[in-house]
Amino acid sequence: MEENNIPKVYDPQSFEKKWYKFWEENKLFHAEVEKDKQPYSIVIPPPNVTGQLHMGHAMDNTLQDILIRWRRMQGYNTLWMPGCDHAGIATQAKVEEALRKEGKSRYDLGRDKFLERVWDWKEEFGSRIMGQLRSLGSSCDWDRERFTMDEGCSHAVREVFVSLYEKGLIYQGTRITNWCPRCNTAISDIEVDHETEAGHLYHLRYQIEGTDEYVQIATTRPETMFGDTGVAVHPEDARYIHSIGKTLILPMVDRKIPLFADEYVDPAFGTGAVKVTPAHDPNDFEMGQRHDLEQIKVINNDGTMAESTGKYAGLDRYECRKQLLAELKASGHLVKVEDHEHAVGHCSRCHTTVEPLVSKQWFVKMESLAKPAIEAVTSGKIQFVPERFTKIYINWLENIRDWCISRQLWWGHRIPAWYCEDCGETIVSRRDIDTCPKCGRQHLRQDEDVLDTWFSSGLWPFETMGWPENTEELKQFYPTSVLVTGYDIIFFWVARMVMMGLEFGKDIPFKHVFIHGLVRDSQGRKMSKSLGNGIDPVEVIDKYGADTLRFMLITGNTPGNDMRFYWERVEATRNFANKLWNASRFMLMNLEGFDKNFVPQAADYTLADQWILSRYAKTVQAVTDNLENFELGEAGRTIYEFIWNEFCDWYIELAKARLYDVENARPRQTAQYVLGYVLERTLRLLHPFMPFITEEIWQHIPHEGQSIMVATWPANENAKWDDAAEIHMTAIMETIKTIRNMRAEVNAAPSKKSEVILHFAEEKLQAVFDANVGYLTVLASALPVTTLAATAAKPENAMAAVVSGIEVYLPLKGLIDVDKETARLTKELENLDKEIKRLVGKLSNAGFIAKAPADVVEKEREKQQGYEEKRTAVQARLQYLATL
Ligand SMILES: [Zn+2]
Ligand SMILES: [Zn+2]
Repeated sequence: MEENNIPKVYDPQSFEKKWYKFWEENKLFHAEVEKDKQPYSIVIPPPNVTGQLHMGHAMDNTLQDILIRWRRMQGYNTLWMPGCDHAGIATQAKVEEALRKEGKSRYDLGRDKFLERVWDWKEEFGSRIMGQLRSLGSSCDWDRERFTMDEGCSHAVREVFVSLYEKGLIYQGTRITNWCPRCNTAISDIEVDHETEAGHLYHLRYQIEGTDEYVQIATTRPETMFGDTGVAVHPEDARYIHSIGKTLILPMVDRKIPLFADEYVDPAFGTGAVKVTPAHDPNDFEMGQRHDLEQIKVINNDGTMAESTGKYAGLDRYECRKQLLAELKASGHLVKVEDHEHAVGHCSRCHTTVEPLVSKQWFVKMESLAKPAIEAVTSGKIQFVPERFTKIYINWLENIRDWCISRQLWWGHRIPAWYCEDCGETIVSRRDIDTCPKCGRQHLRQDEDVLDTWFSSGLWPFETMGWPENTEELKQFYPTSVLVTGYDIIFFWVARMVMMGLEFGKDIPFKHVFIHGLVRDSQGRKMSKSLGNGIDPVEVIDKYGADTLRFMLITGNTPGNDMRFYWERVEATRNFANKLWNASRFMLMNLEGFDKNFVPQAADYTLADQWILSRYAKTVQAVTDNLENFELGEAGRTIYEFIWNEFCDWYIELAKARLYDVENARPRQTAQYVLGYVLERTLRLLHPFMPFITEEIWQHIPHEGQSIMVATWPANENAKWDDAAEIHMTAIMETIKTIRNMRAEVNAAPSKKSEVILHFAEEKLQAVFDANVGYLTVLASALPVTTLAATAAKPENAMAAVVSGIEVYLPLKGLIDVDKETARLTKELENLDKEIKRLVGKLSNAGFIAKAPADVVEKEREKQQGYEEKRTAVQARLQYLATL
């Protein structure tokens, strides 16, 4: 068999690409609609088209691949739908950055040329992350790869937009929205990061017309005063009751504005009077609506001051603030300046301070869409794993605001709305149009804006299956089985998919939402570019192989919690792969005479066989249960323990005697059979986690079928459960460990056999030991093994221990070289005496006791005590040696 063996050294680079190619070429990832098979489907969270694989993706996709590979082996008709997202703002920003290096802006190119550049960019970099997902081993159905701006998705987006519009759920409104002056676009509430900043509260005074009286207001953004169209007070605020309805003179511009009352005003804040700037503050906007105030826009979309601010026009908003404050101070309108901490919104993409601005935008009415989405989760139709994320989801949906879906970008789905320049009609249409249906003329202008990226990704689970056509794919694979994603996009994405799925897919988009945490660095920090602490998964794959990366990520992970990345764990996982490799290689070297038709009789099995088969069968059950419960990390750890501790460290050792005994065919074949049976099936259990190494080994060992990835998942093995064999084998293994420890303690040469005397409390166990005494001889050099009768006296001059209710005695006579051991122990005793003397001196030093911290003193005391105990033991040993 040697020529068919796997190479000596585990080298993942030598086979990972080979097997991926094999799987893909043989269409093993591909799913066809098969109505009689039970479906299991996952849609990939589409990564950004120009992105690259980061540790979060590596984990997210490993989790999905484990579920998909496992269910595929269980016989489900599995579909893992891959694809990527056009990622509007992120992709556009990258192309604009490249243009900037050429000294150009998107406006220099114009819309069409610019979009050509983005598509070129997409073609050039768009496949990189898909290649990286392949190197990770992801078993996606690449024949079905999708893109959120491909023809089918564009069709779905258009259909959803128009039909929401027709239902009255999409409307155009002049609203105050968060505006990023740098990205030059409206952004949604969840794209704004609020951070507390140290700022100032400026107290200004506005004169009451025709009097010498002033009303004092406080603001954090004085430059917005140009847009003030009123000052509000609480209706019951005694300080102002007599002034309500009077007119104020706005300084600098001398405009007349009303002093009015509104319940919204908190009389306890500042002076109880607030300036109202409807065009630049969401609350003021609402008040302005209630009191019919004018909206005056004073800050431009790019963050400079507008024409309406007169001489400040064109100045940056912060420069304007500086100059304006100087003038207000000079004119006596600035009363005082206080330090003030307040929350300031920042663009989550570029970190620029967000400016609330009034603009015309498209919105989706959320209330009626949110209700069924809440219901789907409270009724249990959709389940979050772990369950605690349910609350976050529901809470968000219960407090949802209308969703601003228009973005002032060019890269994305253009809004299918046209404006007639002749009659003013707005037309929303499924098809591009050039004639106004109202006036019949052809002066139509399409809305310049595109849709928020999350609009198309919200349709992902059904648009990828061919919706709005009622395709066979939709019928078989929708709703999908599970969505795997990080907790950071529950709002952005998960909630929207549920709403859109229920509204248009006519069903929930997925049954489970499996939430995982972030991969952090070894110190628990988020991996980020600015910290420079990111670890490139591709680098880990190149160095250690994808199997190691996958297994490390999964076993370091519990559902919903963040994990830390340690290189030590990568090394340890590689060692595990090595261990499995070497064990497999060992088995392959000992398959001479292997007969694939040989099946042992019950009587052929040794205790070790029964034990490993039982342990294997229980591992099958535990791993399957864990996977059912989304405890993927626990499943991985269970397989690891079984392979490392039980199969490699014990069973292979226990089987060696029979494998090496060429004279006795039947015991040898039985050992080969059990080794092969357990290894081949354990590889299947491990396959979803470590697909490459399992395929490589599996193809070399006796197996049936084309590939391990389509072998069946081990099941129905419970008949092999054998508690008695486990108890008995455990007692034997514990005894072996005890004897080994005792021998190590006296430095017995490994090759030196020596007598072991056992005393059993239970007769039954004695019979088990009698029948399996060979294990003690082979693995603990115990020869002869004798049994002490219940009534016999305890052996003298022997080391003793009790384990599993068995007394174990190791007579030392003949086992060790008395002179050498005496010399060694005498030396050790001297050292111990020295150490104890030193510590006694230290601990009786009043200065040390007074100065050293209590825990240091305590540690030294413990040390002393430990040495003394050791000294007593060494002395006893020496006394004993003297008797030999
Ligand atoms: Zn921005
Ligand atoms: Zn018209």
